[in-house]
Amino acid sequence: MIEVNTLHAKIDEKEILKGLSLSIQPGEVHAIMGPNGAGKSTLGNIIAGKDGYDVTEGSITFNNDNLLELEAHERALAGIFLAFQYPVEIPGISCAQFLRESLNAHKRAQEEKELTGADFLKLVRAKKDELKMDPAFLKRSVNMGFSGGEKKRFEVLQMSLLEPQFCVLDETDSGLDIDALKIVSNGVNALRNAERSFLVITHYQRLLNYIKPDHVHIMADGRIVKSGGFELAEQLEREGYEGVIGTNTANTPQGEAA
Ligand code: ADP
Ligand code: MG
Repeated sequence: MIEVNTLHAKIDEKEILKGLSLSIQPGEVHAIMGPNGAGKSTLGNIIAGKDGYDVTEGSITFNNDNLLELEAHERALAGIFLAFQYPVEIPGISCAQFLRESLNAHKRAQEEKELTGADFLKLVRAKKDELKMDPAFLKRSVNMGFSGGEKKRFEVLQMSLLEPQFCVLDETDSGLDIDALKIVSNGVNALRNAERSFLVITHYQRLLNYIKPDHVHIMADGRIVKSGGFELAEQLEREGYEGVIGTNTANTPQGEAA
């Protein structure tokens, strides 16, 4: 479904991805783990089409099409979804407006009838119960004043409404307590099927206990340095990055808060 081939990418003349390759088949869940600053979010952002990155070498295909030629919104309509590490707040746009317009953009692209307000509410009501979201959130501005966990649940709610074919979850577990982690994992697991694939970016094995990946990759300094099965995540939890790949994470750039 997704083929990333020796991808090199820069931000502001600084090379972040240094020859990264990754191949994901339909129905598979791949996890990427790696120290802060390894380039995990950069990879997710480049797949989703965020601007500001300069791909200098390599390719990404999605269902055999050249993904890098498409604008971000075209990628979304083609079935790519990114759950942000840091979801943005959008003052003045309610969650209901945002979700309904996102869904209708997909309907228009598929030349289907747009959802009425009543259709939309019916659809969203079942999903928000699954994700245990307070009904009042629909009237609130997107992510404004949401707790870290609420923002992440709202990301998964968007994903479950849009039913994308390829989902990138960037540290969706960060900021979640154990109950929220289970709710979010259940939401993701409910979407797993033979046609849909996931790339789950995480620091910790904890999330992977709930969302069991088929493959685990360790990324460091812009490349995948080791791949394996779930046992690799377990080894990482026991031995740390230094034990598994011989890197002291204390020396990596601080790309984000822990
Ligand atoms: P990870 O998600 O693995 O922690 P990132 O992909 O966020 O890593 O970042 C990789 C590297 O790129 C870090 O060194 C980070 O500081 C740098 N970086 C990320 N975004 C920018 C940016 N907009 N401008 C300059 N450097 C950036
Ligand atoms: Mg990141």
